[in-house]
Amino acid sequence: PALPPSSYLSRLNPEQRRAVEHDVAGDACAGPLLVIAGAGSGKTNVLAHRVAHLVAHGADPAAILLLTFSRRAADEMVRRVERILRQVAAGRPRLAGAKLAWAGTFHSIGARLLREYAPRIGLDPAFTIHDREDSADLLNLVRHELGLADTGKRFPRKNTCLAIYSAAVNTLAPLGDVLQRRYPWCVEWEDELKRLFLAYVEAKQAQHVLDYDDLLLYWGQIAGEPTLAREMGARFSHILVDEYQDTNALQASIVRALKPDGRGVTVVGDDAQSIYAFRGATVRNILDFPGQFAPPARVVTLERNYRSTQPILAAANGVIARASEGYAKSLWSERESSERPQLVSVRDEADQAAFVVEEVLARREAGIALKAQAVLFRAAQHSATLEIELNRRQVPFVKFGGLKFLEAAHIKDVLAVLRWHENPRDRVAGFRVLQLMPGIGPKTAGQVLDGLAQVHDVRMALQEARVPPAAAHAWDDFLGLVAALAQPGATWPAELETIGSWYAPHLERLYDDAAVRQGDISQLEQIARTYPSRQRFLTELTLDPPDATSDEAGVPLRDEDYLILSTIHSAKGQEWAAVYLLNAVDGCIPSDLATGSPQEIEEERRLLYVALTRAKDHLQVVVPQRFYVTQQSGYGDRHVYAGRTRFIPPGMSELFDARVWPVRATETAPACAPPPEVVEVLSRMKAMWR
Ligand code: ATP
Ligand code: MG
Repeated sequence: PALPPSSYLSRLNPEQRRAVEHDVAGDACAGPLLVIAGAGSGKTNVLAHRVAHLVAHGADPAAILLLTFSRRAADEMVRRVERILRQVAAGRPRLAGAKLAWAGTFHSIGARLLREYAPRIGLDPAFTIHDREDSADLLNLVRHELGLADTGKRFPRKNTCLAIYSAAVNTLAPLGDVLQRRYPWCVEWEDELKRLFLAYVEAKQAQHVLDYDDLLLYWGQIAGEPTLAREMGARFSHILVDEYQDTNALQASIVRALKPDGRGVTVVGDDAQSIYAFRGATVRNILDFPGQFAPPARVVTLERNYRSTQPILAAANGVIARASEGYAKSLWSERESSERPQLVSVRDEADQAAFVVEEVLARREAGIALKAQAVLFRAAQHSATLEIELNRRQVPFVKFGGLKFLEAAHIKDVLAVLRWHENPRDRVAGFRVLQLMPGIGPKTAGQVLDGLAQVHDVRMALQEARVPPAAAHAWDDFLGLVAALAQPGATWPAELETIGSWYAPHLERLYDDAAVRQGDISQLEQIARTYPSRQRFLTELTLDPPDATSDEAGVPLRDEDYLILSTIHSAKGQEWAAVYLLNAVDGCIPSDLATGSPQEIEEERRLLYVALTRAKDHLQVVVPQRFYVTQQSGYGDRHVYAGRTRFIPPGMSELFDARVWPVRATETAPACAPPPEVVEVLSRMKAMWR
């Protein structure tokens, strides 16, 4: 049908429009399409328009699979599509009410499909999902059982084991190769690791749990089974993937298995923004995409950037132009501005925090809402000083990336009880719950769990379990909880409150700040009410936990104005009027954990490129002259003099305005911090005892 002149298509430029209109013929599936283009050129926008366009031309919204890199991105895309459809819906109720049923991350879509297909591959559909920490705990349990924990020599630690396992799974590479390439110091343990991973897989199977990687792996297994693959592929007329440069080999193979000829597949991405190689993503997916199909995919490139002003773009282009591999795209913008991005030199992190808060508040005065401003940083812990300053000045903020609400110990305690209730075979959950009770340590917990592993009726078996006398009181209390949860009245979500009341005295006993944590638990109960079932709640929270908020009362800050704090990784795909980048120094970006291979350094450069290209109108890159490093690797804390990041070399200075803050002339007293050597010595003294 002819579209009205006000149609959404008129908002697009000719190349964007070509991508949106590519091969749209009723419900028949289109040939494969790749949009490869730089930051802010409208890739995500094109994807949203394409979905709307497909639906407007007859595609069933329930048969469109839309894959994004976060739930937030999926929700945003769904909103955009529905908005476009409402605009053209006049007289067509099918469009006004269109609902996209399959939008989400690879992991969450995988979980949904697995629940459905589980029985057909011999999997219990009532599986629970382990997050990374639970997975590491289970690996650790297995490692102890195999006697690998105390081999005398240094066997890799549990998180390293998990990283190796995950790398092998996601890159579809043999363990030996993964070790050679990425963990050369673990090569000698190849046989033991194989034994460990086999036992780990068996443990997961016995306990009916899946980890994150399993969600993709099992999905891949189903997609590798021709009959099932055909059936699953036929449910989706179209598969569209955003941020394709950050998918891994397994994800690409799933898409190909569902659509072997590529018909109906659209992927968009930017090779210059590939930042997840450290987790197994490969930029080859996007570069090799066109040639994987016959006939090959159509390729559309976009060069005009609509997001940033030309001076901001010039700075970002400067960073990526110095990359060792060439990126063919050169972006341009029509958004002229006399304001260049700033390189702001501050003394230390305290000044950095004070500077950012001051700028943020000044911009708010000037009419730029807090929500339109974001502070970005390389690693989650880099915002600690700023968070304190924001709290002190009562500026509300939300933090993306880093430690999530659900990773806090007290929340994990409550969720462990819920998970164990859902799946009594889940040993990691059981271990955690049992050890909450005073008098029960790992040994007793292990014995109790061993007793339960054999039986059918867990509740009965718990009644008969033997615990040390010191635990008798807590144990009775716990059996009371088990009985209460078994009552017919204890349904979702009321059962979470039952668990909360049982947990309250433990909370009091375990934590000094019990009152604050109690607030978090109330917040968890509130969030729970928005989910239809325990299973959905556990699945979705494990896969995509809500972000940490600054709000002590614990009510999600939905309608209020708040500043965004985000790791660069979590800022992918987003944009803000004003962006502040913290710690633009060597050691932070590139991270000193990455100074190994040239590939890692190049990934850090692309990360900086991603950060700079988030800004629409204002960009400030802050360079502290010295900062305090808390090293995770166990070398203790140190205070170091920092140098500006090597990715903005002196040759690029003319792309920025240099600024020093606070203005030195008004300085009355010299900084009274002890000289760095002293701090160095003190922190080494402390480190001896950590
Ligand atoms: P990234 O690589 O960072 O994910 P992207 O290529 O996905 O960026 P979008 O987020 O889709 O880019 O678009 C960037 C901005 O440009 C958005 O604000 C979008 O609304 C705007 N935009 C895109 N296309 C057009 C257009 N044709 N006219 C006006 N604005 C546009
Ligand atoms: Mg995008």
